[in-house]
Amino acid sequence: MEKIVIALGGNALLQKGEDGSYESQVRNARRTAQKIADLIEIGYDIVITHGNGPQVGALLLQNDCAKETIPPMPLDVLNAETQGQIGYIVQRELINALHERGIDKMVATIVTQVVVREDDPAFKNPTKFVGPYYTKDEAEKLMKEKGWVMKEDPRGGWRRVVPSPEPIDIVEKDVLKKMVEDGVVTITVGGGGIPVIWKDGELKGVEAVIDKDLASSLVARLLKVDKFIILTDVDGVKLNYGKKDEVTLRNIKLNELKNYYEEGHFPPGSMGPKVKAVIKFVEETGNIGVIAHLDKVLEAVDLRSGTVVRK
Ligand code: ADP
Ligand code: MG
Repeated sequence: MEKIVIALGGNALLQKGEDGSYESQVRNARRTAQKIADLIEIGYDIVITHGNGPQVGALLLQNDCAKETIPPMPLDVLNAETQGQIGYIVQRELINALHERGIDKMVATIVTQVVVREDDPAFKNPTKFVGPYYTKDEAEKLMKEKGWVMKEDPRGGWRRVVPSPEPIDIVEKDVLKKMVEDGVVTITVGGGGIPVIWKDGELKGVEAVIDKDLASSLVARLLKVDKFIILTDVDGVKLNYGKKDEVTLRNIKLNELKNYYEEGHFPPGSMGPKVKAVIKFVEETGNIGVIAHLDKVLEAVDLRSGTVVRK
């Protein structure tokens, strides 16, 4: 049966405007788990990856609020915390959904480290906004005290910016391969994975955030899966997004999509990395990549919904 990597977007765990409470995350996880259970019931082997934006943002704020009492943890540790937190909820709800259907399958999360290059140019040019909003004075203090890079967020206020380096390898890849071969539904590279570098013969965590779509693409390529499906809150990749002449790309050849990407049609931080992630997968494996809406996952796997990219 086909192997598929499914990358879950933020909306799989929180809808726009929701408060991020435990109850709302469980409610969304349940809905998402039912959709994934549908695929497993048909017979697909599924590997799940996911984002962590709101969850890691909440942890950064918690660390900041409690800093006088409890020493704040660095970003790599916070990523690991969110892998455990989200992995647990998705894993539990998926086991429940499978159990309900009488399907006897194991589901497990790997706390996953993703290797980046110490000399990645992203370290000299941090671009990814994380955590709480500060005033200009607070931001200046934090820049001095902690050596953080702070920039003014276009949405207002000052925020920390961190590097977003390219994922190049997965430390736990052999464990991941074995689990998939053994039929375990595996959850991996949550929030893009824990960014680590190899230095002086050892692994070290770094203060960065890896894009979850690019990390998911790396997983899909390492496992050479049949399909790589990115699920989000729009029904596909659009040209002239948000304009009157907006069009959704339905079936597109790799080279055509590459041209649009290189022409700068897709913004960094949202659709850009998804398109890049799919391009890399299709280019390297010759297999099919899809960017689709979470609610249409069954149709997306059948290539009847979303943007379908072929070599
Ligand atoms: P996720 O949590 O799924 O990664 P993102 O917010 O990072 O979600 O990316 C999805 C968003 O990308 C959509 O909600 C949409 O607003 C935005 N977007 C930007 N450009 C485009 C485009 N060209 N086509 C479709 N969506 C786009
Ligand atoms: Mg995103």
